[in-house]
Amino acid sequence: MAKYIFVTGGVTSSLGKGIIAASLAKLLQARGISTTIQKFDPYINVDPGTLNPYEHGECYVTEDGAETDLDLGHYERFLNTPTSQANNVTTGRIYQTVINKERAGEFLGKTVQVVPHITDEIKHRMLLLGKDGKYDVVITEIGGTVGDIESLPFVETVRQIQWELPEEDVMVVHLTLIPYLKAAKELKTKPTQHSVRMLSETGVHPDVIVCRTEEPLNDDIKRKIALFCNVKPGNVIEAADASTIYEVPLLMQKEKLDEIVLKKFNLQASPAPDLTKWNAFLTKLKNPKSTIQIGLIGKYIELQDAYKSILESFIHAGAMNEVKVKVVNIHSENLTKENVNEQLKGLHGLLVAPGFGNRGIEGKIVAVQYARENKLPFFGICLGMQMAVIEYGRNVLGLQKAHSVEMDPNSPDPVINMMEEQKRITMMGGTMRLGAYPCKITEGTLAHRIYGATEISERHRHRYEFNNAYITAFHNAGMVTSGVNPATGLVEIVELPNHPFFIGVQYHPELKSTVEAPAPLFVHFIAAAKLQASVNA
Ligand code: GLN
Repeated sequence: MAKYIFVTGGVTSSLGKGIIAASLAKLLQARGISTTIQKFDPYINVDPGTLNPYEHGECYVTEDGAETDLDLGHYERFLNTPTSQANNVTTGRIYQTVINKERAGEFLGKTVQVVPHITDEIKHRMLLLGKDGKYDVVITEIGGTVGDIESLPFVETVRQIQWELPEEDVMVVHLTLIPYLKAAKELKTKPTQHSVRMLSETGVHPDVIVCRTEEPLNDDIKRKIALFCNVKPGNVIEAADASTIYEVPLLMQKEKLDEIVLKKFNLQASPAPDLTKWNAFLTKLKNPKSTIQIGLIGKYIELQDAYKSILESFIHAGAMNEVKVKVVNIHSENLTKENVNEQLKGLHGLLVAPGFGNRGIEGKIVAVQYARENKLPFFGICLGMQMAVIEYGRNVLGLQKAHSVEMDPNSPDPVINMMEEQKRITMMGGTMRLGAYPCKITEGTLAHRIYGATEISERHRHRYEFNNAYITAFHNAGMVTSGVNPATGLVEIVELPNHPFFIGVQYHPELKSTVEAPAPLFVHFIAAAKLQASVNA
């Protein structure tokens, strides 16, 4: 049986519970303790797959095809181990399961209630990953902020688990904010006191308080927080603002968060975490030899969380190449044939982002054309790949109305078509082509050079595909389909050989990029952009 750590949040959202959870997990993992992280989200959506990115940022897809919260991306990037459907649970999924059981008569005529039926289902799922001996520690991040009506059943379940399991098997880490009032030149602990009190009123007692702060916490403040919040003085942890999220594990190590956990759990571990690879990455990240500019063409660019995994992949690939990647956000809606030269001038590479629906589509096509004609390194992901196919269809094959049936169901040349298995689907949630699929790569292509392999596996999230009725026409016109799904023949990668770097992929390589294993496509794209920058210089 594993040990369980629950991470709750107080005072405000967006304090970075996911990063704190991932950092603690990293430290434990680096001491030889096998650790996983899961997230419990209080909203009623069964999963975030149906949420607009403006609501909740990127939808992160796991190997097994679960559409999950973007924090799972952080967990994977930090730990370099895959998560799964079981690592992300929402209130909607809990209720759906309980209601289905009720309809099946499983409660034998009993009144079905929040306590115990909903909390039993939550508990079952909170403890699940710790049951098969795979993990020594399971960290559960509770979404939302303590005091929200919605997260009450989760917090109540934590109370029950704290009450049921031996004391040395459960810990609660409460993340809070210590605001600094400039006028008074003072750090304020009152909001933290209130949030801990609120947590205590529900019967949950925190073992550790992690304090987000812009100013260092002195011993007096730490003692005050410890006293008012009823935790050991050593268990008040400072979480100062960091220049990069990847530094947070080191900050937490300095504050001895991992030692506190190991002591409470009475766990045998390596005397110090082995962070050799992590530190090597950080050193490179912090000492770039030059800066390159990459244009990110998307329609959600006001909201950086919408492209979280792509932005993190740039960071990983930048460090590998010892360059700082400056991402220039370009709104596809504002991009036209008339202003494209002006808007994309000075960039060393273009990434056309994934997306759905019509908005900003023509701008993306204009951007692809610019990259193709000006021999600018180009990287299209999912919708970005589809736009590269449409652009080539229109401007090289001369199919002026070539389109995706997603945007133009009546296009005479639907070069991007709906996948056969998608045509019968009417429900929205969890019904796209999701998760990991194999891809066979043709030897001698750019894709082959990038991956150094002929068989790869990448994650997907889409309904539309390259229309194979056009494949010969595209081949004859010079576009290479260098990766296909071996079972279905679905085109996964397109590229142009007469271009320094032009590649589009139907899948999402950004979902598998981690600190210790950056995605090869990003690494090579950044290398190509670096080369472009040196040519320009
Ligand atoms: N909208 C496109 C599709 O469903 C692309 C999806 C994506 O970019 N993730 O096929």
